[in-house]
Amino acid sequence: MAAVDMDQLLAQVTREIEPQIGTGTVADYIPALGAVDPNQFGIAVALPDGTCHGSGQWTEPFSLQSISKIFTLALALAQNDEDIWWRVGREPSGTAFNSLVQLEYENGIPRNPFINAGALVVTDQLAGVVGDATEAVLDFLRAESGNPDIRCDEVVAASEEDHGDRILALTHFLASYGNIHGDVRDIVRQYVRHCSIAINCRDLALSGLFLARHGLLRDGSRMLAHNHTKRINAVMLTCGTYDAAGEFAYRVGIPGKSGVGGGILAIVPGRCSIAVWGPGLDRRGNSVSGVAALDRFTALTDWSVF
Ligand code: GLU
Repeated sequence: MAAVDMDQLLAQVTREIEPQIGTGTVADYIPALGAVDPNQFGIAVALPDGTCHGSGQWTEPFSLQSISKIFTLALALAQNDEDIWWRVGREPSGTAFNSLVQLEYENGIPRNPFINAGALVVTDQLAGVVGDATEAVLDFLRAESGNPDIRCDEVVAASEEDHGDRILALTHFLASYGNIHGDVRDIVRQYVRHCSIAINCRDLALSGLFLARHGLLRDGSRMLAHNHTKRINAVMLTCGTYDAAGEFAYRVGIPGKSGVGGGILAIVPGRCSIAVWGPGLDRRGNSVSGVAALDRFTALTDWSVF
């Protein structure tokens, strides 16, 4: 598809999903997120040549939340190759993203890196190599997007930490199985801070482009082997959209990872990286307008992994 068509296509997608904008419920279990205006929507598509196209509020920052789990996983794989898979699985969980139940039955090995327990273990693994996982994620996002101003929103981070009993409980529970090696409070702090990064659709689409480029970074250097990005994309497809990964695969047909800030990063391997954002969530926790836009995008382009 010629680049000039992409702008028109995204404008069309935005027009078509307009009735969905503002629907759904904004996450408010992190109080600072509850204050976000639901009547917003943005979409950006980054192409393998490094160009980026967008529509709607695609330069408006939002809270990255669970989408940060893609970047911690990718950085952990880049640092330690396959070691992480001794500490975390890659099966859909069928339980809530912040559930404690399964962990006890499965001896402290989280089902996958995209539920909170799994992401805490990945954060711990990464922190063990680089010191501060949040700073590593920030450095990566800044380099890949070309935007040096990407920051953690400390108000959101403080708000989540103030209401962070469950995250703390999960981390202590993992530590009791020997699956957290660092200091529990420090790992929780790092986890909450990388979730609280403020980013816009443009910068997120560009930062995810390495997954569409089979592991190649913006400067052409290789971060990960194709085999690794294949695996990250596979886990995104099967575990990336909470307890609705089947429905998402059925409707959209590409790997995606959503966050409670209303963002979704989705990948068409070899073709593009797509970031969408609409703060209103469905009952499974995925952005209503975001899923609708990805559904229209893959339908109109005929781009899919199937
Ligand atoms: N920081 C959020 C939490 O741990 C991330 C949740 C999400 O986006 O799924 O609750």
